[in-house]
Amino acid sequence: MRSWFAKFSVFIAFYAVATVSANIIAPSFGRVPISCLGDGAGNVAVRSAMYCMLNRNYVTPSMLTLVSALADQVDQRFPGTTTVVLDGNFPFWDGFPLLPHLSHADGRKLDIAFFYKDSSGNFVNRATRSPIGYFAFEQPSSDDEQPCDGRRDILTTRWNFDWLQPFFPAYHIEEKRTAFSLEWLTTEGVERFGLEKVFVEPHLKKALGVEGGAIRFQGCRAARHDDHIHIQVK
Ligand SMILES: [Zn+2]
Repeated sequence: MRSWFAKFSVFIAFYAVATVSANIIAPSFGRVPISCLGDGAGNVAVRSAMYCMLNRNYVTPSMLTLVSALADQVDQRFPGTTTVVLDGNFPFWDGFPLLPHLSHADGRKLDIAFFYKDSSGNFVNRATRSPIGYFAFEQPSSDDEQPCDGRRDILTTRWNFDWLQPFFPAYHIEEKRTAFSLEWLTTEGVERFGLEKVFVEPHLKKALGVEGGAIRFQGCRAARHDDHIHIQVK
């Protein structure tokens, strides 16, 4: 018991030092934090302070520029809207993945939350259906394209968490803001800010009426993307 406690204390101490030094060493790995305190205009927010405490909020400077520009555009079109971001990357070492996201390993990836409305159809700013922003899935209807239907992959991070779904509030995607964001990302985001890829499930792409070559399907072994949007910059 004692030795367990000693090991745990060492781990906590190490983690605390790593957390504090992350801010200092991140720039040498070309990464910057998305502020958990909100930026100057206050229109970008990290979903939970936990993401920052765990150093999951680091991106490349070009990603920070892109997401800030996106948030400005959304806020201009729909005043009073905050763009909520989820997992970014760790502040160090290219190739060190931010589990469970295997690809979030180089600062160029970021997850963005959907915008939501409550059961009466009113937009709820800064809210997500799931308290961490992940795993509250928008379910496709039976006539939607479902590329992974019927697969039984063992090595996969495409988890459905069916048992979890009833615990989430009856929010729905706020289509106007979410579609506007996707539209902006695949046009100006690509042309002016070096956006390379957006992952979102085919059924949502259809429901939101967005096109654009940058929108891809991530494959059936990667996580579902009907609970959040994943973006990648050059
Ligand atoms: Zn992602």
